[in-house]
Amino acid sequence: MLEDRLKSVIRDIPDFPQPGIVFKDITPVLKDQELSSAIVDELAKRLEGMEIDAIAGVESRGFLFGMMLANKLGIPFIPIRKQGKLPAKTIAESYKLEYGQATIEIHEDAFVPGSRILIHDDLLATGGTVVAASKLVEKLEGVVVGYAFIISLDFLHSLGRLTRFSDNIIALAR
Ligand code: 5GP
Repeated sequence: MLEDRLKSVIRDIPDFPQPGIVFKDITPVLKDQELSSAIVDELAKRLEGMEIDAIAGVESRGFLFGMMLANKLGIPFIPIRKQGKLPAKTIAESYKLEYGQATIEIHEDAFVPGSRILIHDDLLATGGTVVAASKLVEKLEGVVVGYAFIISLDFLHSLGRLTRFSDNIIALAR
């Protein structure tokens, strides 16, 4: 089962990036081409029938599978990046992380108003990052049609924060 494979390959790194945090390291997944393909195929399958105009992925691990998924679906990929990284005109949103604080940005011309955007990130923890990403999408008059994660740490707790944007929440492993 894909979930079991993911859980066995994603490794726990204690005390990263700070003491007391157990970091889920997805880099071993990237070394496994078959598993990486299976992830993209499974996400694409679960998104079948949904009208999606573009995938928005959050820097930086959201770029890895976000771009592959967009490519597989034949739709654009939109990078949401940390402050100061996107070169053209941006809008910004600040939020609290599991550890620390962050600001993310999206290009003002990332998509046309009314576009249906699926938000992707590697991992869902508190939901703060994708809530901020959702606010960026809505500020540009996009519609958040769902979320796709590889792994969710705290699915039930974060769900409530995301459902005000969309009920379509996919996590391949929990
Ligand atoms: P949240 O905003 O949901 O609390 O945290 C999720 C964000 O932080 C994602 O962008 C994710 O990449 C990053 N993140 C937080 N904890 C981890 C972790 O243990 N492993 C990985 N790979 N990313 C994490």
